[in-house]
Amino acid sequence: MIPIIDSKRQYQTIAEEAERAVVEVMRSGSYILGANTKAFEGEIAEFFGAKYAVGLNSGTDALHLALRALDIGAGDEVITVAFTFVATTESIEIVGAKPVFVDIDPDTFNIDVNKIEGAITPKTKAIMPVHLYGQPCDMDMIMDIAKRHNLFVIEDCCQAVGAKYKGQMVGTFGDISALSFYPTKNLGCMGDGGVALTNSEFLKNRLVALRNHGGAIRYHHEEIGINSRLDEIQSAILRIKLKHIDKWNAARREHAYYYNELFAGCDAVKTPVELDDTYCVYHQYTIKVPNRDDLHKMLQERGIGAMIYYPIPLHMQKLHAHLGYKMGDLPVTEKNTELVISLPMFAELTREEQETVAKTVIECIEACAVAV
Ligand SMILES: *Cc1c(COP(=O)(O)O)cnc(C)c1O
Repeated sequence: MIPIIDSKRQYQTIAEEAERAVVEVMRSGSYILGANTKAFEGEIAEFFGAKYAVGLNSGTDALHLALRALDIGAGDEVITVAFTFVATTESIEIVGAKPVFVDIDPDTFNIDVNKIEGAITPKTKAIMPVHLYGQPCDMDMIMDIAKRHNLFVIEDCCQAVGAKYKGQMVGTFGDISALSFYPTKNLGCMGDGGVALTNSEFLKNRLVALRNHGGAIRYHHEEIGINSRLDEIQSAILRIKLKHIDKWNAARREHAYYYNELFAGCDAVKTPVELDDTYCVYHQYTIKVPNRDDLHKMLQERGIGAMIYYPIPLHMQKLHAHLGYKMGDLPVTEKNTELVISLPMFAELTREEQETVAKTVIECIEACAVAV
């Protein structure tokens, strides 16, 4: 049995330090917005080269509050993709704005930058690029379009902590960026957690107020906010994990290149493509194959963890039905939805496990081809 991710294995590598830190928090009596969260906010901001980080409950809240902080709401449109986790577009609906879907690039799975301008209307307020699977979007193009049309950029970096575009960390290009520390992410805590990054003091102050019932000063409420804070236990764990993230991301990259090698002789497997001058962190190692659903079933039967991210494109999900999209509107997104499958990927994965995964995938594909 080779799981798609093994959180326990990573835990074992930091167990002693993490357990000590958690006990210390419990003994301290300070559980929300204390010393650990403050320190972690500084450390993660520094890691990114951003001015400010605001600790929140989740990546979803980071996206939602980013939109709120930028005063995006009813009557506004936000350009994004339908090939992502639902939280990206759900956050736009939460604030009452309208997601406008642009198709993706078939190789990188990210927003097709050549189609963004065609989707801009007088109501467009922002572009929300998603660095899917840890792969950076074409940020030069996105920032250029945003500048020319006076649009905000909110980067969804929930799968891309540590990824770089032309040597610069993704998450430092836009006005606000969202990070998630959900346990399966590259930098995962042991519960829910997230951060919003920004270089603007004004936006940082708004985020700090919005996460705490709309007031920066206790019992003074300027506007309607929510309760969304990163807690001390998660912050203490994240401070320890952050020290390892570069090493873990480097290991993921090595694994990705080894998979590429193992699949090199198999034409049926389309391995991931990297843009020039990017540092992908392989949140997922996602291949494209024919007979994807058959392969998925066979891998499950053989104990290989594989997942479909994501089986239904968001423009076809019920929550967005009111937007009026139909099948055929986003042909590349729809096609990729049928072809993608993600294989086991985590820093502690061994070469032997990768060899077993690749061998099994190739055997199953050959079996599928014979059956067809
Ligand atoms: C995980 C994820 C989110 C949401 O993060 P949570 O912390 O689970 O709320 C948003 N966008 C993308 C692309 C994600 O992968």
